[in-house]
Amino acid sequence: MEKPGVICVRHECLNNIFCFSMPPACPACGELLAGRRLREAPVSIPDPLGNGHKTTCCLLVIMTLLSFRGFDGTSELHTGISNTSGVVYNYTGRGILRDQSGWRACVIVPLVRPDTFHLLAQWDQYLERFSRRPLWDPTWHRYVHDTHNCLTFCVEFVNSVLAAEGLGRGPLSRDVLTRTLIAPAVSRACKYVALRRHIQHQRFYVAQRRPTTAT
Ligand SMILES: [Zn+2]
Repeated sequence: MEKPGVICVRHECLNNIFCFSMPPACPACGELLAGRRLREAPVSIPDPLGNGHKTTCCLLVIMTLLSFRGFDGTSELHTGISNTSGVVYNYTGRGILRDQSGWRACVIVPLVRPDTFHLLAQWDQYLERFSRRPLWDPTWHRYVHDTHNCLTFCVEFVNSVLAAEGLGRGPLSRDVLTRTLIAPAVSRACKYVALRRHIQHQRFYVAQRRPTTAT
C-alpha cells in the first residue's frame, strides 16, 4: 500500500503545518484554510527513502535498524552499492551478496552523474570484478564488525572506481565518505521518519517560522 506523502502548509500566522492532508483550519491559530491564497497552497515534502532496486550506481543505506533519534555515527547501518539493473552488492559475514530484493526502503546516495556514460558502461564490470577479490571472500578474510564490514566494501569500491577512472586526489577515507555523503542523507531520512510518526499519532506537526522581512 502506498504511504500518504507529507505536505507542508505555510500559514500566515508564521507556522508551518506538516500533515498528510490539508486541514480545514490551521491547527495553530484556528483560522479557516479553505479557499485561501495560493501562497498557502501545500507543498509536498519528498520522501528521502526510496526503492534501492530502482536505482543505478548508488550507495544505499538500509534504515531498518536505525534508532530514529538521528545519525550519531554509531547507529547500526547496512550499506550496499547498486549496479545498473538495481542489483545491490553488499558485504556480509557470508561474503558478497547480490540482492534482488530487500532494499525497498533505503537512503539513496547517487555516486555517478547520469551523463557520465563511459563510467555507467563500465560500472557493472567494475562492481563484479571488485566483488570477486579475496578481500571479500570469507575463506580468505574474516568480516570484522567495526573495521572490515559493509561500509569498508563501499568505501574501497568507490576508491577503486576513482583510481580506475583517474579521478579524485587520492583515496577517500571512510570517515570523509561517512561525513560528507552518508551522514547528511541518513540524518534527513531520520528527520522525515520522525516527522511521519509524529503526524501519524498527532495528525499535525506545527513548526514556528522566524519572521522575515521579505515579502
Ligand atoms: Zn495559522
